[in-house]
Amino acid sequence: MSQSVLTDRFGRTVNYVRLSVTDRCDFRCVYCMAEEMTFLPRAKIMSLEEIAQVARNFVSLGTQKIRLTGGEPLVRKGVVDLVREIGSYGLRDFAMTTNGSQLPALAEDLRKGGLDRLNISLDSLDAEKFSTITRTGKLSQVLDGIDAAKEAGFKRIKLNTVVMKGRNEEEIPELVEFARGKGLDITFIEEMPLGEISEHDRGLALCTSEEVRAIIARHHELELTDDDSGGPSRYYRMQDSASRIGFISPHSHNFCSTCNRVRVTVEGRLLLCLGNEHSVDLLPLLREHPGDDERLREAIIAAMDLKPERHHFSSDGEVEILRFMNMTGG
Ligand code: SAM
Repeated sequence: MSQSVLTDRFGRTVNYVRLSVTDRCDFRCVYCMAEEMTFLPRAKIMSLEEIAQVARNFVSLGTQKIRLTGGEPLVRKGVVDLVREIGSYGLRDFAMTTNGSQLPALAEDLRKGGLDRLNISLDSLDAEKFSTITRTGKLSQVLDGIDAAKEAGFKRIKLNTVVMKGRNEEEIPELVEFARGKGLDITFIEEMPLGEISEHDRGLALCTSEEVRAIIARHHELELTDDDSGGPSRYYRMQDSASRIGFISPHSHNFCSTCNRVRVTVEGRLLLCLGNEHSVDLLPLLREHPGDDERLREAIIAAMDLKPERHHFSSDGEVEILRFMNMTGG
């Protein structure tokens, strides 16, 4: 099926699903998680088979793009098998968001399994700062992961940087040069108020895409493109590089009117909007009616009516959504 049958009350077509394969992560990024986290018990999370069943049914309803995320998707045991399974569904675009730490070991198998694209998070090129931001991450491991991904021949690799004043804002030019040098795209993300954090004030740390763009413009002329990756990024090009610079601006540039995506958390909660709690619990259905694809598809179609028109993030850092990003599936 090429046309998605999933449309919401506002006429938006949903053809992009972000599936979380775990809430666990080997990093504890300060803007994403608390230092001490309690993760979900096994019984409460979807099995790999259940995740595949959800993916398969979304595809049969016209989904053309799936992104696996988490938590850190690559810490889930069996994730390469899941990639192979979903990779056989004939998607137009099959991607993953990862912190890159496991890529030295897994990049090649993921690519062979049919994964097309990777987004790799990278908030600093300074080893000390990197470990402060990620709390448990090691920069050299991620840089090796980026090289392993390049070698494995993914169609596109994009770096993701959450920009925070007082933490990594001064590294923006260096990160751009790094992306250019490696021939990768880079997207700068405004921090979103998801979950209560203690290590900085989100309101004070907010660095808008406008501010980031002004910093880059001191070094490179940026030309807005109409490239559409089917996601929330707006892309700019530089004249002398194939690397694109993207901006995800949930505060300063609301992207809700063209929203084409939904998320499924690893608990099987179909979330209709990143910044709202509207959701449908698919896990009871998966467990009470195992293998009943018809029922699952009906539940997915019915859920579209719950997709809210837009999210409302305030820029003062006030938390409106209590779920952390690792629970949401970033
Ligand atoms: N572990 C993987 C990773 O590090 O990319 C995938 C999950 S992570 C939640 C996905 C993306 O969400 C990362 O690029 C991360 O930087 C971003 N993220 C997490 N919390 C965020 C927040 N509060 N605001 C903006 N971006 C956030």
